[in-house]
Amino acid sequence: MTDQPSTSRTAIVTGAARGIGAAVARRLAADGFAVAVLDLDESACAAVVSEIEAAGGRGLAVGVDVSDEAAVQSAVERVVDGLGAPTVLVNNAGIIRDNMLFKMTTDDWDAVMGVHLRGSFLMTRAAQKHMIDAKWGRIVNLSSTSALGNRGQANYAAAKAGLQGFTKTLAIELGKFGVTANAIAPGFIASDMTRQTAERMGITFEQFLEGAAKEIPVGRVGQPDDIAATAAFLVRDDASFVSGQVIYVAGGPKA
Ligand code: NAP
Repeated sequence: MTDQPSTSRTAIVTGAARGIGAAVARRLAADGFAVAVLDLDESACAAVVSEIEAAGGRGLAVGVDVSDEAAVQSAVERVVDGLGAPTVLVNNAGIIRDNMLFKMTTDDWDAVMGVHLRGSFLMTRAAQKHMIDAKWGRIVNLSSTSALGNRGQANYAAAKAGLQGFTKTLAIELGKFGVTANAIAPGFIASDMTRQTAERMGITFEQFLEGAAKEIPVGRVGQPDDIAATAAFLVRDDASFVSGQVIYVAGGPKA
């Protein structure tokens, strides 16, 4: 999909070295955005940047811990210098530290809040000024069906529900500057994150995928490209009247 004038626009995707973030980064590059690929390990971002460049796009690998205020500030500055002022931000970086509440440690709680909530806050605060300057911007936050509640994920569910409130507030505050903010709430997506869940449950990833697909109305689990397609829509020019929404992308009406 390349029918919109996005060639001079710069997008940041966090947690983009693999999984959903990598798929979003590749898709936005294919749609004409220069894409900053942010992740904890800068060298891990290089493969995605190489793919983007091999396909004729522009990419930049930037190592950053999104929960580190100073690191976020300098990462966004590197993006401005390397690709131009970012006017699209996809807050995708995420971790899980699953456990039943009575076994959940304070570190498990803080780590999940730190990456999802503090990380999205810091990234958005650093990037929004470029969107305000441009009088155009798109913010996409990765929530989850777990926001509706999920056994063993008190921390993650709280963070993902929190991101929905964050998103709606951004939409209210930034709308008059031409900036939209929306959340995507994926259901089951095949990635390293769900592989990690299978390991914790003591089953193979294949068994986990097969069991999950049976519960999903469309009869399959999601793929990172399913989320990339939704993000690609939300950042389009003609999605300018869609803001403050949570789009569940889960192969059916509920988790
Ligand atoms: P993933 O494969 O585990 O990828 C997450 C990426 O985020 C990793 O590259 C990870 O880096 C990076 N990351 C973690 N902490 C970070 C930090 N502090 N700063 C910067 N980067 C960091 O996960 P995914 O399945 O693609 O999930 C992507 C997003 O979708 C997450 O927000 C997740 O919660 C959400 N989501 C996923 C599913 C699903 O079924 N997979 C469903 C609903 C929502 P390292 O590899 O170095 O740790």
